[in-house]
Amino acid sequence: MNNKDWLRQLSNLTGLPYYEEHKIFGDKSGALIGIRDGYIVAAGLGKAEGGHAGVKMLLRYAKTQDPARIKQSLDPAKGKFKQVTTDATTANFVRAYSFGKPDAARVVEPLPGLLAALKTCAVPIGGKCEECGRDEPQVVLLNDVPSRYCPSCQVQLKQKLDAAAIEYENLETNLPLGLLYGVAAALLGSIAWGGVAFLLHRIFLWGAILIGLLVAKALVTGIGKVTWTARIMIGVLTAASVAFGDAIYYALSVMSQNHIAFKQALRVVLANFWKIETDSDGGVLSIVFALIGAVWVMYSTRKPAFQARFVTLGTPDTALSDAGTK
Ligand SMILES: [Zn+2]
Repeated sequence: MNNKDWLRQLSNLTGLPYYEEHKIFGDKSGALIGIRDGYIVAAGLGKAEGGHAGVKMLLRYAKTQDPARIKQSLDPAKGKFKQVTTDATTANFVRAYSFGKPDAARVVEPLPGLLAALKTCAVPIGGKCEECGRDEPQVVLLNDVPSRYCPSCQVQLKQKLDAAAIEYENLETNLPLGLLYGVAAALLGSIAWGGVAFLLHRIFLWGAILIGLLVAKALVTGIGKVTWTARIMIGVLTAASVAFGDAIYYALSVMSQNHIAFKQALRVVLANFWKIETDSDGGVLSIVFALIGAVWVMYSTRKPAFQARFVTLGTPDTALSDAGTK
């Protein structure tokens, strides 16, 4: 059965309206979004941990101080859903599958039990704005999370985030400090890379990515924010860190074979670095790893997002009685 038909079936079983256009769980088939007993319920298909296909579901409640208690209450009722994570307003469930989607009727089985458990520990959102508590008949998507947010709170949140974005843009940057931190992190990375290569006679791709992450963290901490200069410095320092790590590895090898001092060995290695590096298979490989690590970390180092995107639900793609909206 294709994903859309499966979701339609799930919609019929639960009475939750099906919206093909709202891809809030990642899959392009869309999601079910509705209200049950005053709680917001959404379900759909998406990625589970480790890239497996999964059925996802979320339950949303009024803000609580004690999300751990909600997890405790929901855990025994979760049925075949494996992961349960809770925060102040939302419980998330994932059920991974390998061969074909599970039977829709089986998937919905735990829902009544979960709602019953939720009633013992969490207050429903009901028909009220989650921020100010005023009556709000509509559910909207706030950055893909189904929420109750009244128009004036929407405006306020947007203004607040716009102000935060401007504040971030205007932050002072400290390039020298960033460079200092970055170089220190890169040097640490080199020592780790060279040491591991020497002791284990292996190099690891994720080692280069780890170094990149360390350099990025140090550099951004020093500079104070993510800029293009910072990203380029992260890339260059990561590649340099791995290259110098290789030099340390060669120097350690030369030192132990020829019984000379490390400093002396390093000098010899650095003088012939490029030749040694390109002559050995491991050297070429680590240049490749260093570049992959550098590019990956440059790409994944993002500015924090200050954005509140509100999307109205619109008309569902299932013709239903009003069972799903009450
Ligand atoms: Zn409000």
